[in-house]
Order: sequence, then C-alpha cells, then structure tokens
Amino acid sequence: MSEPIEVPESAFENKPWFPTFPAPDLVREIKEHIKTKGDPHLWWGHTHTTPPMGGRIVYLDEFDVPTFGVTMDRVAPCPCCTPRHRKYKSGGKIAWFPDEAVIRLIGPQCYKSLDAEGHELAEHEFRERQRREKYARYLITQLPLLPEIVRTGDEVLEMAKAADEFRETLQRRLANTLFLRLWENVRNGVLNLIVRTREIRAGADGDHQMRTVDKHERYATIEGWEVLDPRATKIAPTLKRNIDRLQVMRFELGQKQDVRDADDLTLRRAAQTMANARKVIAAAIDRIALERKIVSPMTVATLRTWGQLDAATLKFSLRRNGRDLLVGRDRDHCCPIRIPPEMERTLPVLPHLADE
Ligand SMILES: [Zn+2]
Repeated sequence: MSEPIEVPESAFENKPWFPTFPAPDLVREIKEHIKTKGDPHLWWGHTHTTPPMGGRIVYLDEFDVPTFGVTMDRVAPCPCCTPRHRKYKSGGKIAWFPDEAVIRLIGPQCYKSLDAEGHELAEHEFRERQRREKYARYLITQLPLLPEIVRTGDEVLEMAKAADEFRETLQRRLANTLFLRLWENVRNGVLNLIVRTREIRAGADGDHQMRTVDKHERYATIEGWEVLDPRATKIAPTLKRNIDRLQVMRFELGQKQDVRDADDLTLRRAAQTMANARKVIAAAIDRIALERKIVSPMTVATLRTWGQLDAATLKFSLRRNGRDLLVGRDRDHCCPIRIPPEMERTLPVLPHLADE
C-alpha cells in the first residue's frame, strides 16, 4: 500500500448536520469543492468515518477527483475502507446517510463491500432519479418552445398532406394511366442512355468475333426521385399523430405548477413525446424538401431533355406549366398532374435552443 496521507482530526468528526434530503445547491457546492481543491475528504460537511452496519444510504451524485496534471490512479482517501490512504479517482460517490444525518464522500464501489444489497438499492434508485432529472431538465428547457413547435408542426402538416396527395397522383398516373415506368428508370436518381458499341469477343473455339453490345451510360442525375418510390409511405398521418400527442401532453403538463411535480411516468412520457415529435417534424420537413425537387425547374428540365433523346432508356414527354406537371408518352398526349401550392410554400424551421 502507498504512503499514508495526513488527514486532519476534524475530518473524522461526526457532522450530523443533514437530517433532510440534501438540496441540489449543496450537491453542487460539494462538486465545486472537489473540482477546485481535489480533496473530497476535506469538504467541511464530510464525515470521515466508516458507515455503521444496517443504516440507509442514498447516493446523491457522482464525481471525479482532479489530479491537476499529476499522474496517479488513486487520489482521495475513502472513509469506508482506507481512511488514511489514497483510494479512488473516478466515479466517487456523494452518499447521504439519513439515519445518521451525515454525508460521506466515498469510493465508487466501497459501500458495496459493507452492504451489497443496500448499495444495489441505492444505485438503482440513484439511476432512476438521474433519469427523472434528465427528463425534467429537458422538458423545462423545451416547454417554452412548445407553442412554436406545435405551430410549426401544423404548418408542416398542411404541406405534408399536399405532398402526399401529389406523390399519390403522380405514381398512379404514371403506372395506371400512362404506363410509364419512370421509377424503374431513375433508380437512385441516375438517368441512363443506351449506347450501342461493338466489341471483339473470343469465342469458345478461340475465334474472335465482333458483337454488338448495348450498354447503359450515365446521362445525368436528378434530385427528388424518391417521390417515385412505390414503397414510399405517407408523411401526414405520422406527423398528425405526433402533433396530437404534443397537444395532449401540453394539456397534461399545463395542469402542473412545476414540471417536477409530475409523476415518473408522466414525466418520462412527456419527454419522449416531445423528443419524438421534434424528430418526426424535422424528418417531415426534410422529406418534403427532398421530394418536391422533382418539380423544380432544374429536375424538370433534365427529365424533359433526357426523355426526348432517342437513346434514353425511357422516352416520354414532361414539362411544367404553372401548377401542372404535364406528363405523357409524347408532347401531344400529356395528362396534367396538379402540383398543390401548399407543397411549394416556404418550409418553416423547427425552433430550437441555442445549444441544441
Ligand atoms: Zn472505500
């Protein structure tokens, strides 16, 4: 064992000054002391004695002991096992002993050797409390944004309904009315030409023969091709469900003075509802932005030019006229597909916090 370190007698004095659950401010103060001084055993409220058997224990928080650039594995002495020798560095615990009304700053697993069951229980309860605190903090920062998030969600929902309608009509017209296999021909956004080349190939008998081979050659790529995917799901229903849940949550939490008054389940559900809704709204915005590129001047021009080429893998006519996309086998036989104006509105931005 390493050299003993000097621990003042004052550290060993019993300090039964904490009869009630210590406030977050006190825990913050302890952590600040450790962070700046590096000597948990010298914090004014610490009792440096071995905990008695059978007492209750509550873990308030965890801490690392700084070494201020010095290389060492063991830094702080532990009252449970090594009161006069350096023992731990990472994951130290701020432990409150309600029966004695004292606080001890101890090694991460130290109490376990004294009372394994008590340790497990305290550990479990601490993790639960931590989770709850995380949800509460998240909600407290996010709730002021909630009205704005709901408003954004509603705005996106209108656009999503329009985008869904357009996707459905476009796919149905192409497949059932025009029999144009556009999706099959623009997989991954690549437009190909069929290029005929002559190749010399060695036959089985060793003879060389000229052969005509048709090859695909990349002509261009387009954006927004995902809108043609027959497996694409609708955007609006999931979005609507999530906005509805936000409204319910807003009502439920609105009944509480303080978010922290909510029970565990309500708190967890509310945090998850918030996080999910944000994700779903953001995803809807991204998808609308992507899919509507199919009717952008750039994509329309590329498709139109490609479709007119003799070598294109698919020959067709496509152009945009105001709110109509005109598609057909040739220019004289096009059917209009309406582009809903809502789909092309300016997409709103989901409000977020400065540090998100
Ligand atoms: Zn210990």
